[in-house]
Amino acid sequence: MAKYVYDFPEGNRNLKDLLGGKGANLAEMTNLGLPVPPGFTITTEACRHYLAEGSTPGGLEQEVAEHLDALESRMGRKLGQADDPLLVSVRSGAKFSMPGMMETVLNIGLNDESVHGLAKQAGGNERFAWDSYRRLIQMFGKTVLGIDGELFERALDAVKGKRQDTDLDAGELQRLVETYKGVVREQTGGDFPADPREQMRLAVAAVFDSWNAPRAILYRRQERIPADLGTAVNVMAMVFGNYGDDSGTGVAFTRDPGSGLQGVYGDYLQNAQGEDVVAGIRNTIPLQELERLDKHAYGELLAIMETLENHYRDLCDIEFTIERGKLWMLQTRVGKRTAAAAFCIATQLVDQGLITLDEAVTRVTGDQLAQLMFPRFDAGADRKTIAKGMNASPGAAVGRAVFCSERAIELSEQGEDVILVRRETNPDDLAGMIAARGILTSRGGKTSHAAVVARGMGKTCVCGAEDLEVSTDERRFTAPGGVVVSEGDLISIDGTTGEVFLGEVPVADSEVVEYFEGAEPDGELVRAVDRIMRHADANRRLGVRANADTPRDAARARRFGAQGIGLCRTEHMFLGERRRLVEDLVLASDGDERQAALDALEPLQKADFVAIFQAMDGDPVTIRLIDPPLHEFLPDIVDLSVRVATSPDATDKDRRLLAAVKRLHEQNPMLGLRGVRLGLVIPGLFAMQVRAIVQASKEVPGSRPEIMIPLVAAVQELESVREEAVKILAEAGVDALIGTMIEVPRAALTAGRIAEAAEFFSFGTNDLTQMSWGFSRDDVEASFFSRYLDLGIFGTSPFETIDREGVGRLIEIAAEQGRAARPGLHLGICGEHGGDPGSVHFCHEVGLDYVSCSPFRIPVARLEAGRAAL
Ligand code: ADP
Ligand code: MG
Ligand code: MG
Repeated sequence: MAKYVYDFPEGNRNLKDLLGGKGANLAEMTNLGLPVPPGFTITTEACRHYLAEGSTPGGLEQEVAEHLDALESRMGRKLGQADDPLLVSVRSGAKFSMPGMMETVLNIGLNDESVHGLAKQAGGNERFAWDSYRRLIQMFGKTVLGIDGELFERALDAVKGKRQDTDLDAGELQRLVETYKGVVREQTGGDFPADPREQMRLAVAAVFDSWNAPRAILYRRQERIPADLGTAVNVMAMVFGNYGDDSGTGVAFTRDPGSGLQGVYGDYLQNAQGEDVVAGIRNTIPLQELERLDKHAYGELLAIMETLENHYRDLCDIEFTIERGKLWMLQTRVGKRTAAAAFCIATQLVDQGLITLDEAVTRVTGDQLAQLMFPRFDAGADRKTIAKGMNASPGAAVGRAVFCSERAIELSEQGEDVILVRRETNPDDLAGMIAARGILTSRGGKTSHAAVVARGMGKTCVCGAEDLEVSTDERRFTAPGGVVVSEGDLISIDGTTGEVFLGEVPVADSEVVEYFEGAEPDGELVRAVDRIMRHADANRRLGVRANADTPRDAARARRFGAQGIGLCRTEHMFLGERRRLVEDLVLASDGDERQAALDALEPLQKADFVAIFQAMDGDPVTIRLIDPPLHEFLPDIVDLSVRVATSPDATDKDRRLLAAVKRLHEQNPMLGLRGVRLGLVIPGLFAMQVRAIVQASKEVPGSRPEIMIPLVAAVQELESVREEAVKILAEAGVDALIGTMIEVPRAALTAGRIAEAAEFFSFGTNDLTQMSWGFSRDDVEASFFSRYLDLGIFGTSPFETIDREGVGRLIEIAAEQGRAARPGLHLGICGEHGGDPGSVHFCHEVGLDYVSCSPFRIPVARLEAGRAAL
């Protein structure tokens, strides 16, 4: 028969799936011999059964009764026993912590009789007993009976007046209990349940139910916690911090979660219970001051914190209570921390001999490193916080507040930095979002339109700053305290913390970026990053290359640790002044005119390649031949039509150009005449590019060009381009690999054939994702992706992290078939995914040789490649 209940000593910290995080760690602490009040845990499995079937599994009640009996005999009192009651707490606790999302009820077992027994037990402390009883009705009423908590708060405030809760005497608290019971009767039509076992049974069911409370569902969606895990329930003997001034409750960290520094970090509240310390009902004191109040308990607490750190070999956070001088541990877990603290703590623990450097590398993430690379607001600067929202997309942005897209575009065209402020954004705001330095909304969470789109664009965004009243019509917003910000006023937003500041806050460069740029490692954080990066580099199997099109990007990429260029796009080489040459190419009426246009482009291209080869100094450079449809280089069809129709000085060339633009116009340009198709349709185009590469390579000794053909779907396409290129290489006596991108599903599925004509593959996962899902990358993120994320159709955008099941499967097939046909075939990835942590791990697992990503993501890719290998 299934076992649904575990006494604390029966569990351990590895049983989080079954016992939840809280239960597993309570078990671990119990077995470490720490002072944990005894109790037991009802498993998540029981919860899952309850949620699926609507009733608890058979035998559960019996099992709970047995464990409760054991607890009672151990404590020498019975639950709610009239003259000497045992009280318990019933606490939720899922596998992943969901702070404040689910329910806990304290002081179960009190009723009109046992409250007197409790007072007697406490040596006649009537006040304490009635305080505990009113707390029970309040918590039980709210969480189990679903009564609006405000009703209890108001009744309490009415008695309290300007005093604090600790100032109420026993008589007042007793009358408050009567008032609370009245509230329960009024709201539910029934009496507060007096039977202790009934109280416990109802509380357990309420904890199960709280798994599906709307706020818990929302939180899980945002934090990507699976919806089907369920929560465990911990039943635990009560200890009391509300006895009097010799008691209290607190929270602490074993080191500073902001910086990682060792020391005493926490808050303590005298004569208080449970949530009081975080609920802000009274001012807490810094934990250090506990030393003055209770030296003995303080000393014991510090010793326990050290035990926990050494045992978990990591920063822990804890909850504790002191009952008349006796310390009790109520919770611990490996604590959350800032990105900077994560790096510092990891290396400190290495120095303390608690973990190895291998482990240190796995304990930090690429996302944390990326956070440290964003510019930040100068922490020392004067700044006035006016609101706080969600940290939807990191970075620091300063600009003038604007309230609509049109204004955002107008002002940014005049050279002003702007912050687009909206209640929430929708696809119509896209142009304004692109023009803005940052985006601020007063509604919506981390999967709102604004958040998803901003992250996609790498733009700073704070969303859901609910304290702001945004009035688009009046072009202003108001913040608490009567602050009014009108269009044109300067504001600063911090996408890393979610803070909104009035005025311009100075921005400081990231010291981590300065280090990657070549500065000597200085300061604890940078030294920690340096050690971890070195170790990641020493252990990674994946190479890391850059997507870089200009000598400047190439040089930065190299400083950041790129081992070559995995994608050098050539399309920007056709822009600006050179558009005229592309126009000539398109308008050419015969082969001679076409060749003349190409001949004019060739030296320009060659010069571009020379500069890049020089910047890369002998590292490989994969050059992709021209990919986008040619009409992207021609004038806009509407502008041109207007000019031809209305301008007296429209030339004959304008008219011919308009005809060409019309001829080249496509309904679905991304599925149109582009990539290898251009090379096959426009004679001489690819040959010109290959010649430019070859000439440049001869001019830069040691250069290592690789020629990459985009958008191939069938080996035949590649073969005919290859034949021409091979000839040019041979004539010039230059060695260069010729390979292809795999970015059309058909190419992935026929990769065995394609490998016969390709010396390398580079997975173009942007197009591959677009074509596998049939999603237009340029449109979907702004239109329906936030809905898809809300519906859980995918957890993250497949353009952000490789969709392993679909797109990933195609990559696996292509890698396998490609290598079967050509052993040692060199494999890389050059889509946006190359710099995404989850995708880097995938590339490691399927055995690619390298990932290629934008220069700023290179350190992230290096770190994640190291983590994947360790
Ligand atoms: P959360 O998960 O929201 O932190 P908890 O289950 O940890 O909720 O409980 C809420 C508060 O009640 C915490 O401060 C906790 O320490 C306190 N608490 C829980 N059980 C007991 C107990 N048996 N005795 C005293 N305090 C308790
Ligand atoms: Mg807690
Ligand atoms: Mg592509």
